Amino acid sequence: MINRLWERLVGAGESLLGAPTMLCMYCRASVKRYALPTLSLCARCVNVIPWIEVLQCEHCGRSEQCTDCTRRGASRLCLNRSAVKYEQGMKEWLAAYKYRRNERLNGLFASMLHTAYKRNEHDYNRSGAIHWVTHVPVSKERMEERGFNQAEQLAKGFGVLAAIPTVPLLARRRDTAKQSYKSRAERLDDLKDAFAIDEAGIKMILKKTVMRPINIVIIDDVYTTGSTLHHCAKTISDHAEANVYGLTWAR
Ligand SMILES: [Zn+2]
Ligand SMILES: [Zn+2]
Repeated sequence: MINRLWERLVGAGESLLGAPTMLCMYCRASVKRYALPTLSLCARCVNVIPWIEVLQCEHCGRSEQCTDCTRRGASRLCLNRSAVKYEQGMKEWLAAYKYRRNERLNGLFASMLHTAYKRNEHDYNRSGAIHWVTHVPVSKERMEERGFNQAEQLAKGFGVLAAIPTVPLLARRRDTAKQSYKSRAERLDDLKDAFAIDEAGIKMILKKTVMRPINIVIIDDVYTTGSTLHHCAKTISDHAEANVYGLTWAR
């Protein structure tokens, strides 16, 4: 009873003192208002985000000179765009997200993906509106070890913001995690058969989408060499007449 009364008094006090302070989604600092209307962040956090605004590579969305795309040649991935440059500060943000796995950071990262999508909407809609959002899968072992797949969580959050339905379209055949010990050629070879189609997912989109090709955005956290997204796009377009676009949080 006393507690209730106290809460009401505090509530009344807060409303007299003006709007309650809000918390930065990343660092939890209290702010009077957020620095941007679209992201619930304090000014300090907004200022450290290295947004990718100018592209050097139209294919992968890189902000610097790009040799990966010229080296690879033709790709089944239509294009990729990313929200931020994968610099030290952003590596820390991603590590915090993976470590804490919380809804709050997922919401923040999904909003950042949505910002990048809106900025590049013209490129994504070059062959009509996007029909589906999907994600890069992880292996069963990885999933058991980590308990969640951040690409899947990001895809779900982004799908809600962009009002595009999400669907799992791929499964990972085996774990290709220890890639850092391998040469580039070994890594590429490793990824060749790493992905399998999700039969139920592909059947569903073939049935539910009237238009052809089907326009799909695939979500991942980081675009490194592009091999993962390239192989994912190939696997999907081997099974459906589709345009597959990449959208990653960092590049
Ligand atoms: Zn902050
Ligand atoms: Zn490129």
